[in-house]
Amino acid sequence: MEIVEVMESGDYEQLVVVVDKDAGLKAFIAIHDTTLGPALGGCRIWPHPTEEAALTDALRLSRAMTYKNAAAGLNLGGGKALIWADPRTDKHEGMMRAFGQFLEGLGGRYITTEDVGSSPEDLVAISQATSHVVGLPRNLGGSGDPSNATGFGIYRGMKVATRQVLGTDSLKDVSIAIQGFGKVAGYLADHLLKEGARLTVTDINPDALARARALGCTIVEDPDTIYDVPSDIFAPCALGGSINPDTIDRLQCKIVAGSANNQLLTPENGEVLWEKGVLYVPDYVLNAGGVINLSYEIGRPYQEDAAMERVAGIADSVEKVMSISKDENISTANAANRLAEMRIKSVRRAKGIYLAP
Ligand code: NAD
Repeated sequence: MEIVEVMESGDYEQLVVVVDKDAGLKAFIAIHDTTLGPALGGCRIWPHPTEEAALTDALRLSRAMTYKNAAAGLNLGGGKALIWADPRTDKHEGMMRAFGQFLEGLGGRYITTEDVGSSPEDLVAISQATSHVVGLPRNLGGSGDPSNATGFGIYRGMKVATRQVLGTDSLKDVSIAIQGFGKVAGYLADHLLKEGARLTVTDINPDALARARALGCTIVEDPDTIYDVPSDIFAPCALGGSINPDTIDRLQCKIVAGSANNQLLTPENGEVLWEKGVLYVPDYVLNAGGVINLSYEIGRPYQEDAAMERVAGIADSVEKVMSISKDENISTANAANRLAEMRIKSVRRAKGIYLAP
C-alpha cells in the first residue's frame, strides 16, 4: 500500500502509527481534515486480519467523520482511531491508558470517543491519561450513552422528510417499518408512537422483538421480509449495507430514513433510490445526534438541554440537503456530500484570506 499516495488522493492530513509493546498496543490514528476544528471520531477496537485492512478501515472511517461533523454544522473535523486488537480478549486498562498517552501527545488535534469494540469503561481508562476524550459516563461529567440524542435527531429529521413527501410533518398514522430494534430505535420509537405513527418492527433478537411488541408495534418475525412491508418510511436501524441491489427493488416505501451507518452498500444505491423517486435521507446527516451531543462536552460543562436543542437542528440540515438536491438536480446522497464539502471549502477560503500577505 502506497500510504502517501492514498493520503494525497483522499485528502488526508495525518496518520499516526502507535506501538507500545509493553502495553500490547498497536493502533492507527487517522486525522482526515481539521479545517473546521479538532478531529472527532470514535476509537474502534477490531482484530482486522491484516495491517492493511486495519489501516484502510481507520482512514475510511476518519473521512466519513469529516463529512458527518461538517454537515452537522459542528466546528469539528474528522478523525478515527483503530486499535488493532480483539476487544473480547486483548484489551485491558493498561492498553487504554497507553493509548490515552499517545492522544495527549497530539495536543487535542484528535478527540476520541466510543465505537465498535470500545466501551464506557475504556473511555474512563483513556481519560486517566488525556482530557481529549468525550462520551464519558454522566457521573464523571460526560454525556453518557448517545443513543437517546441520536433517536431524537432522527425523529426531527423524519418529520422534515414527511413534510416534503406526504405534505405534513405530523407522523400520525404514518407507517414506518423499522429494521433493528436496539438502543437508537427504542428511543426513536418513543417519539414516533407518542405522535401516533404505526410501527412495524423486525429484529434478529427475540428480546428486542418482545420490547417492540409490548409497545404495540406490529412484529415481523422473519427479519428478511421487512423489505417487502408496504410503508411510508423504511427505517434501517440495524447494520450497514441494507440498501443494496438485492433489496432495493423490494422496498415499498416513499422514504428511507434510519440510524444505521453506511446504509447504502455502494454510492450507486443512492442514485437508484433517487431515480426511483424514493427520498433517501442520508444516514450521516440524520444520525448525527450522537456526535452533536458529544460536542457539548468539549470545552464546556455538558448541558443536556442545550445539546438536545442543537440536535433538533438536524431538521435544518435535512432541509438543506433536500434543497441542494432539488436546486442542483442531484441525489440526496450526493447533496449531503456537497453540503459538507461546501462548508469545508468556504472555511478554507476564509482562512486563506486571513493568511494572505
Ligand atoms: P444496537 O446494537 O443497540 O441495535 C441494533 C439492533 O439491530 C439489535 O437489536 C440487533 O439485534 C438488530 N439487528 C442486527 N442485525 C439485524 C438484522 N439483520 N435484521 C434485523 N435486526 C438486526 O445498536 P444501536 O446503538 O441502536 O445502533 C443501531 C445503528 O445505528 C448502528 O448501525 C449504529 O452504528 C448506528 N448509529 C448509532 C448511534 C448511537 O448513538 N447509538 C449513532 C449513530 C449511528
